[in-house]
Amino acid sequence: MIGVPSHGSVGPYTQFSGIVLRAPAVDLEARGSYVLDVLGPHPPSPMRRLVSLVAALCLLVPAAAAQDVPAAPDRERGGGPYDRLILRGATLIDGTGAPPRGPVDIVIEEDRIARIQAVGAPGGPVDEAARPEAAGREIDATGLYVLPGFVDMHAHLGGAAQGTPAEYVLKLWMAHGITTARENAAGNGLDWTLRHRERSAANAITAPRLLVYPALGTDRDAPLTTPEAARTWVQRMAEEGADGIKVFQAPPDVLRASLQEAEAQGLRTAMHHAQPGTARYDVLDTATWGLTTGEHFYGYPEALFTDRSLQDFPSDYNYQDEGDRFRYAGHMWQQAAAPGSARWDTVLDSLRALDFTMVPTFGIYEANRDLMRARRAEWHDTYTLPSLWNYYKPSFENHGSYHYFWSSGDEAAWDTHYDRWMQFVNEYKNRGGRVGAGSDSGFIFKLYGFGYVRELELLREAGFSPLEVIRSATLEGAKALGRADRIGSVEVGKQADLLLVDENPLANLKVLYGTQALRFDKDDRALERVGGVDYTIKDGIVFDADTLLRDVAQMVREAKKEAGMAPDADLELTQ
Ligand SMILES: [Zn+2]
Repeated sequence: MIGVPSHGSVGPYTQFSGIVLRAPAVDLEARGSYVLDVLGPHPPSPMRRLVSLVAALCLLVPAAAAQDVPAAPDRERGGGPYDRLILRGATLIDGTGAPPRGPVDIVIEEDRIARIQAVGAPGGPVDEAARPEAAGREIDATGLYVLPGFVDMHAHLGGAAQGTPAEYVLKLWMAHGITTARENAAGNGLDWTLRHRERSAANAITAPRLLVYPALGTDRDAPLTTPEAARTWVQRMAEEGADGIKVFQAPPDVLRASLQEAEAQGLRTAMHHAQPGTARYDVLDTATWGLTTGEHFYGYPEALFTDRSLQDFPSDYNYQDEGDRFRYAGHMWQQAAAPGSARWDTVLDSLRALDFTMVPTFGIYEANRDLMRARRAEWHDTYTLPSLWNYYKPSFENHGSYHYFWSSGDEAAWDTHYDRWMQFVNEYKNRGGRVGAGSDSGFIFKLYGFGYVRELELLREAGFSPLEVIRSATLEGAKALGRADRIGSVEVGKQADLLLVDENPLANLKVLYGTQALRFDKDDRALERVGGVDYTIKDGIVFDADTLLRDVAQMVREAKKEAGMAPDADLELTQ
């Protein structure tokens, strides 16, 4: 998603959320021209129009966030790593797509998976002779399911406008079993984000391992207008330690040079095909130029146009109106070639041949299909910070806050849009294409961690089997990041990144929510909450997920008090 400036921001920087490129502390007009530079050659314009433009482009720019977003505190949670840790009697879903098996004992030495030992048949006696020798720390995993830690392919580490400290975001991720997150744009500044990556790698903070993909043009104060400038910038990002780059739009030659240079430097690439650019290229072009992952849906229908060459917009459409932008984005798939058509096949097969990865982020657009569901999600009152809630409220300033008078017709159009889009993504998977799970949380009523589980549910809705969903969430993500040799599956020799849950997620993905799943107990004739991640293990360090959620809930209570609210007050749009 994108970020947008918060209103009324002042001081040396204007606060922007989402993608934030670092800019020098200059006056608004100067910063404005910087933004325009990033976006390409646009005429100067008043700040307000600029802000809308930036928002509309899903391009976040200036920089204050680096100063404004509190860094994660030193780690106080988690035990280990241990010389020897054993998870005893677990049912293993290993992330490769293999069916569950168990009971198994899983031996972890320091930060590595050292042994996976079958210890009997389910329901039968445990083969004690087969069990690995006792360890310093053991977890009785009888009745628990062990999975690889999840990979969130499309993550943003909060922002100044959302008022989300790093600790809040990171703990919500870890509490939902997310042990790897790809930071898409380094919106809080490249240095800030790289520092968190390093502190996470050293396990100095409670955090998933982070991969950092700064947005095209980050840390520049001049526009990228030539292929040469783009190549130089990519080289600098590689030198500074970026894992990849994130692109929204650029002139075609600049874009192509950026993608090609990234590949030459060994960097992966993520692209949100922002619509001002897709008149000139689509996902087939960018994938051919070396793009490794395509975010969201933009750029795909454009590759499928057969009875037109541009999306048909109403004559009064204005891209800088977020309401327009999101409303008519939901009309895009309906204008594309039909499923099963020659063009449909060509696009899918071409992307597959390029080893391309789709990261649909179905969840982040869900409010467009069902606004009430997104607004009233049951975790908001306990886990959504009031500042984040305020950010979601309809406004001209905040990105993704465009539901001014969202209609039944808008939801119906988006429902059709989702049908076609999901069919496309599911078919890609069926043809051997790689699909990753990305949440894009922090916008449009989607909360960190919870939004990721919802993304898994929507992959299920798209037609993925439960094992296919888990594989997308784990090994497929690791492959897309170029890290499958170390993470993404539970196999001997890999990093000990795991999660344990006491209900079967293949039977119901809802058991992964921090608020658990509701089940009616027929004997007690009462509703009970079941599931929830019990432990998240990263690099062999064992985190109690409930403790992390309690920390977050406490942060929310304190923030409400500071905001003059009762600590347990519900969040209402009228507040
Ligand atoms: Zn995003």
